[in-house]
Amino acid sequence: MVLCFVPGVSNQEKSPLNLESLGVGGDVRVMAFDLDDTLAISKSQIDPEMAALLGRLLERLEVCIISGGRFEQFDNQVLKHLDVADELKVKLHLMPTCGTRYYRWQDGGWAQIYAEDFREEDKAEIADSLTDGARQLGLWQEQTWGPIIEDRGSQITFSALGQSAPPAEKYAWDPDGSKRAALREFVAKRLPQWEVRGGGSTSIDVTKKGVDKAYGMRKLMEALDLKMENIVFVGDRLDEGGNDYPVREMGIASVPVEGWPDTARYVASVLAATDTSAQRGLCRDTPPRRQAGRARRSHRRP
Ligand SMILES: [Mg+2]
Repeated sequence: MVLCFVPGVSNQEKSPLNLESLGVGGDVRVMAFDLDDTLAISKSQIDPEMAALLGRLLERLEVCIISGGRFEQFDNQVLKHLDVADELKVKLHLMPTCGTRYYRWQDGGWAQIYAEDFREEDKAEIADSLTDGARQLGLWQEQTWGPIIEDRGSQITFSALGQSAPPAEKYAWDPDGSKRAALREFVAKRLPQWEVRGGGSTSIDVTKKGVDKAYGMRKLMEALDLKMENIVFVGDRLDEGGNDYPVREMGIASVPVEGWPDTARYVASVLAATDTSAQRGLCRDTPPRRQAGRARRSHRRP
């Protein structure tokens, strides 16, 4: 099969990329990534290989990172380890706490474009409910790695073992999700006015209703004047009930991954499909193995 990739890619800032060859189709302008277990191991620093691939991707596309985590986590996990020029940093769109905050590179620093926070009395009520629930269900740990309840402004997060718990401890705490489900149900019954959702491997997030990663994607579309077909989302929890699922449900092309090495392979395939031969407007044969991989990816796509 002969494919011609990406006509007009030399004017990448304005011309969308056509990634149909990767099973995502449409005119892609932004590649959006979940953070934990998609770009990096949960709460850990991004691998240099993944950081380098992100830098190369920024030369081709706008990139969004969206997570339930705070901006400081984006900074510690990703931004400090990205070795890219300022003119590429302006192509990075950071959406901590599911897009209730939005940061961009402006005048040599990361600038908050907006923030949608809870009122102080609401924060206190949510923290009390999470604490009561954890104590009554026997999930309150006395020995933790940092605070259990964290005020993220627009999101209150319960992390059973503390924010800085080692990933191995976190993964082992609730492998079947039953502890998080019980606490989620406890708090959701008492605070029906708020959205209560399972977050990472030990966490429960409370936000305003309707704030999830789909909300963040809508904010991004608004900010950049995009249509759904201009975005591809990459995430590790696109399964129903997962914290990436709302993006898939709203109809954005979604690529499921299992950890950052899987994401790195996908980004490498995007870079390969938009490489310099494409910039020269050349056609080339697609190796059969890539076609097979593409078909598989296509089928995995919801
Ligand atoms: Mg994740």
